[in-house]
Amino acid sequence: MASGARDSYLVIGGSGFLGRHIVEALQARGDVVSVFDIVQRYHDVPFFGGDISEEDQVADALQKSNATAIIHTASPPAGLSDPALYWKVNVDGTKAVIAAAQRVGVKKLVYTSSAGVVFNGEDIIDVDERVGFPEKAMDAYNESKAKAERAVLEANGQNGLLTVALRPAGIFGPGDRQVMAGMVEVYKRNQTHFQIGDNSNLFDWTYVGNVAHAHLLAADRLTETLNGTLNLEKVQEEIKT
Ligand code: NAD
Repeated sequence: MASGARDSYLVIGGSGFLGRHIVEALQARGDVVSVFDIVQRYHDVPFFGGDISEEDQVADALQKSNATAIIHTASPPAGLSDPALYWKVNVDGTKAVIAAAQRVGVKKLVYTSSAGVVFNGEDIIDVDERVGFPEKAMDAYNESKAKAERAVLEANGQNGLLTVALRPAGIFGPGDRQVMAGMVEVYKRNQTHFQIGDNSNLFDWTYVGNVAHAHLLAADRLTETLNGTLNLEKVQEEIKT
């Protein structure tokens, strides 16, 4: 991390699979961390119960935790047939997080988006983050994640807030309650023969610890941006190696 006072983090969705790994990674490097979530699963960090679609609840947690940085990982799980819930939490909720952050004077917001925001069911090969959103999203989950990501990035530099969004693809590792659990259920039913596409399709998976690490690096880069010490050439060299 660059010079200056260390941040105090509020991990929104910090009771979840990825959020918990982010909390542990922050603890491991000695950062101050609190959690905001609708459910409490751990008792080793200050916990603020609430719903991100309630701006006042988020602002209250930010104030009480003295947060200077937010890592926002909260979302309903993918695959629900409930477009209204996705809209309420991911779109309105993320806008409420932005508004609360700006109201309280938080300097940094890291948002967990999804690789699915650019996927509409067609193969995507050799693209990077410059590829645009599809005209028609894959489903309500991905549409809401895209809208939330856009709101986060549009808020960058507004009212003293710096923002960044990350787009993980599939995440695996300890604590996962969705992906592997589903596969094990199918396996237990003896449904062991899978074929995706013509059997040559590829899909990206990233270990949860690496996704958590990426969030910490993104937060640190925002600090360097704030301090005026961000060296983009050095970052590009690091990415190549
Ligand atoms: P998760 O369900 O384990 O964690 C999400 C957390 O958000 C939960 O603890 C939940 O209680 C909380 N939450 C949900 N609604 C809330 C609300 N209204 N207010 C406050 N908290 C709320 O999910 P995860 O797998 O850890 O995913 C974390 C993030 O990563 C999500 O934003 C998801 O879209 C994104 N993502 C996940 C994957 C993956 O493979 N798991 C892939 C790409 C992107």
